[in-house]
Amino acid sequence: MQDYEVIVVGGGPAGSSCATFLGRKGVKTLLVDKASFPRDKTCGDGITGKSYGVLEELGVEDEIIKNQHMETFGLVTSSPSGVSLNTRSEREADKKKVYVCKRQIFDNILFQEAKKKADIIENFSVGDLIIENGAVAGIKGAGKDGKEKEFRAKIVVGADGANSIVARKLGLNDFQTDRSLVAVRTYYENVGETQDLIEFHFLEDLTPGYFWIFPAGDNVSNVGIAVVAGDVPKRKLNLKNKLEEIVKNSRFAPRFTNAKQISEVKGWNLPTGAQKRKRAGDGFILVGDAASLIDPFTGEGIGNALVSGKMAAEVIADSLGSNDFSYNVLKRYESMIDERMGKEFKTSYKFQKFGRNAIMFSALVEELNSDKKSMKIAASSFGDDSTATANLKIPLSLYVKVLIRYIKSYIKMKMRNR
Ligand SMILES: Cc1cc2nc3c(=O)[nH]c(=O)nc-3n(C[C@H](O)[C@H](O)[C@H](O)COP(=O)(O)OP(=O)(O)OC[C@H]3O[C@@H](n4cnc5c(N)ncnc54)[C@H](O)[C@@H]3O)c2cc1C
Repeated sequence: MQDYEVIVVGGGPAGSSCATFLGRKGVKTLLVDKASFPRDKTCGDGITGKSYGVLEELGVEDEIIKNQHMETFGLVTSSPSGVSLNTRSEREADKKKVYVCKRQIFDNILFQEAKKKADIIENFSVGDLIIENGAVAGIKGAGKDGKEKEFRAKIVVGADGANSIVARKLGLNDFQTDRSLVAVRTYYENVGETQDLIEFHFLEDLTPGYFWIFPAGDNVSNVGIAVVAGDVPKRKLNLKNKLEEIVKNSRFAPRFTNAKQISEVKGWNLPTGAQKRKRAGDGFILVGDAASLIDPFTGEGIGNALVSGKMAAEVIADSLGSNDFSYNVLKRYESMIDERMGKEFKTSYKFQKFGRNAIMFSALVEELNSDKKSMKIAASSFGDDSTATANLKIPLSLYVKVLIRYIKSYIKMKMRNR
């Protein structure tokens, strides 16, 4: 006997989106989270164009605007050689590109929306799955009182983030360090020269990772660094120290002279779409970070979390309709993810690999900076929407120009080192 038709584990963007769409379809849904909301989530807080469609459908944008946030209209990117590229959006239609909103606020807005349509249990930590006849049939966990409890359902959705217990219990939590990212962030007040733009700075010892400054409203900035996970041991990086070093001793130091750090530095893993995970099976679906859906180059995961939650709800509703909760029906979700995000992941992973060569990456940014047409290509590649990234066509002339710049820089470097 089932308690629910669907149980969603985790109330971040992926889980709240999924539970809301399921609830709206009349599916009897339970959403559990080990935290009590509002809760913080270590993040850059950049909510990019990939999120807008779902946010609109959820009807929560007005609520975001009512709270502390920043609307940003483009980005500043700088190369390892220090060349800066400013891609402010010019057309009115392009505006409202990226919200920066603290996850404590943003996730709570989504969670409260889910609460309208699903049963909710907070402070409930899932520790295991109930598996019957090879299919997932429910969850086991404990609330604040520490008492073990079980809930049964026809389908369990793993929306429990990068360290997903649902994925772990199913043996699907592989984290390939050469394809995944790791990041740390903190908040500062009063960072100098911030504008209504988000900033990605590709510094030499971080590439293809970067240092970011995202203005989050009320003179607060989200500041952090993201790197390929495997580069941490390879380059002997201590991310917390590295962030401190950048803020105190690099070309950014003058902007932090009058700034005040207002939170501790926190880090977390970013499982990316460059590694393909099995995302559905008999009686279960994985969404968001639990499904490894973060962009391998930019580190954006919120949009894909929201989208995957919606897609999962659609496929689950179908499976309930046909009374078949097996992989046979749920695998359609995997195809939908591949179709929507597969190409984008491939392109972004190419960027990640390309960015490993600091001289080549500098040559690219310098070339983009010198040509308005090329600059537009850069703007679309930094994640306004997944179709733009996926369909990104880089003209042959750009490759050639970048190659010429690269050769020139390489020769200069060799001459210097003689
Ligand atoms: C430092 C950093 C910066 C980032 N910056 C950006 C950015 O600027 N823009 C962007 O788009 N993405 C960014 N990302 C990625 C983004 O944070 C994630 O992709 C996004 O949070 C995924 O949402 P989710 O719902 O899948 O998981 P989460 O937001 O992690 O939510 C998972 C939920 O599951 C709950 N949970 C976990 N375990 C259990 C359990 N055992 N039982 C019950 N509940 C459980 C947690 O409490 C949590 O509420 C960043 C990530 C990091 C680490």
